[in-house]
This record gives sequence, C-alpha cells and structure tokens, in this order.
Amino acid sequence: MLDADFFRRWLTTAAVSVDRSADRLTELDAAIGDADHGSNLQRGFAAVTAVLEKESPGTPGAVLILAGRQLISTVGGASGPLYGTLLRRTGKALGEDGEVTPETFAEALRAGVTAVAQLGGAAAGDKTMLDALEPAVEALGSATAPFAAACEAAREAAERGALATVPLQARKGRASYLGERSIGHQDPGATSSALLIAALAETAAAAGTAG
Ligand code: ADP
Ligand code: MG
Repeated sequence: MLDADFFRRWLTTAAVSVDRSADRLTELDAAIGDADHGSNLQRGFAAVTAVLEKESPGTPGAVLILAGRQLISTVGGASGPLYGTLLRRTGKALGEDGEVTPETFAEALRAGVTAVAQLGGAAAGDKTMLDALEPAVEALGSATAPFAAACEAAREAAERGALATVPLQARKGRASYLGERSIGHQDPGATSSALLIAALAETAAAAGTAG
C-alpha cells in the first residue's frame, strides 16, 4: 500500500532531480522554446517541497492536490498548469483514503495524464510531455509485476518516449511555432516528465528495500 509519506517522498525526490537537471532542461528549451523550462520547474518543485513540509497533508490525494495547486500558482509558462493538472487530477482520483493500492494509483495517474491531454489539446506524437507520460502510464498499468518493477518499466518507457521526441515536429506549445525547425531536438517537457517518473521508480525501489 502507498501512503501520504510515499507520495511526499516521490515529489521531494522529483524536486531534487529537477534541481540537478535544471540547466539541461533550460538548454533543451533554449533550442526550441524560450529557455525557461528548467527554472520554471526548479521554482515550482522547490515550492512544492516547502508547502508539503509546512502543511504535511495526511492522505495521498491531499499530497498530490496540494502539490498540483502549488505548481499552478508558482510556475509561469505552459508547464505549470499542465503539471499542476496532472498532480491535482491524479490526487482527486485517489479520493480520501489514507493508503492506496498500486493499481488504484496507476489508474489515477492515467486519469491525470488524460486531463493533461484535454487541457493542452495534445496527444502522443505532438512532441510534448505526453510523449513520455503516456507510455509511462501504459507500462505502469499493464504491469502485473511488483510495484517497484512496474515503476521501473514505466521509467524506461518514459525515457524512451522522451528520446523519441527528437525526430518529431512539435505540434503543440511554443516549439510548434518553429515548424520543421523543431525537428532534431528533444522536447524539454518530455524530458522533465521522464525525470518525474524516474523519481517515482527511485522512491518505489527505496520503499521496497525498506520492506
Ligand atoms: P513555456 O512553453 O510556456 O515556456 P515551459 O518551457 O515551462 O513553458 O514548458 C514547455 C513544455 O511544455 C514543452 O516542452 C512541452 O513538453 C510542454 N507543453 C507545451 N504545450 C503543451 C500542450 N499543449 N500539451 C502538453 N504539453 C505541452
Ligand atoms: Mg519555456
């Protein structure tokens, strides 16, 4: 079972990872956007870590809803509302239980990803964060393996998805203004999504070893 602490650790692990990779995310965004993706997420996830520490919500749903709200209010740019929606919608789908099963979480995350697609009007193949998120929820949901192994499969799927954005032409967001010139660059949002899923896998693996 996954409790509030698991989700808090996931997001704080993601914050550390985003912080470490901020320069790279900003470089990717410099190539096909406006060079702010790393700093946007760095600011947002630092605020998430701070608010979770301050308010320490007691259920998985409340952790994700609070984090999502914080991203929406602190991240300028397209990615704030999109990632905020991802976490808020996932949190809502988890309801008010104090602990949730991996299966419930996989379904909730799928609902979160669907909400991102609806909000941004994008689909996999458009060279956005969905190119990493969709294969990740697919891998997470279809795995019958133990949770940590399913998360590891999701991490691999997200990374492959992010790499696969390189040859794509952007059809959504700022990068789409470049038309064919967006081809040949990895999408920053797909890259940060892969980091979030990697943080999930890391957290699940650590929880597994802790017993
Ligand atoms: P902005 O583009 O406003 O500067 P960011 O640089 O923080 O915002 O985020 C850019 C990333 O947001 C892109 O790399 C892409 O993955 C994602 N993105 C942009 N528009 C959409 C959309 N409509 N649907 C899904 N993801 C999107
Ligand atoms: Mg940008």
